[in-house]
Amino acid sequence: MQTNKRYTNQTFTKRVDHEAGKHRSTRAGSEPQVCADCGNVYADRRWTKPGAPSNEAKHPHFRPPKTTICLACKAIRNATPSGYVHLSGKFLAAHREEIEQLLANEAARAAEDNPLGRIMNWDETKEAELTVTTTTEHLAQRLGHALEKAFRGKARYDFSHENKLAHVWWERD
Ligand SMILES: [Zn+2]
Repeated sequence: MQTNKRYTNQTFTKRVDHEAGKHRSTRAGSEPQVCADCGNVYADRRWTKPGAPSNEAKHPHFRPPKTTICLACKAIRNATPSGYVHLSGKFLAAHREEIEQLLANEAARAAEDNPLGRIMNWDETKEAELTVTTTTEHLAQRLGHALEKAFRGKARYDFSHENKLAHVWWERD
């Protein structure tokens, strides 16, 4: 006996991508906003450090800002970093000051582009190791690249997009 069952791909074609565009629908909220902790200002759909030209009262669209807590300060308050840079090796022990200065300088430069990227913590409990935590994945990655560029050595990058977490391991003996 012959069955007349038909197979269709209806279940697949009907599938709707519920996630599509979700991140875009997040509304920026009213502008401008100022962070109560660090004083960074959100205006023109981006965060800037206080005193940037568009934040000044002479700006044609100036309005008194609403108070908020920026994502970097939230991460610091909750002690939830998004990036880790793990440094190790003999070279670190011998050039520690120089290396820490490079990281601090690179973080300061990165903050010009995005003030939400910030170094949170320096774990210096071990002499031959250093762990730096950051408020953004991007800053951890950027610090890793800066280390490679300045001091060579070996860097490994591990990103978990689900958890929004970046680990960078840098080593030089
Ligand atoms: Zn802030």
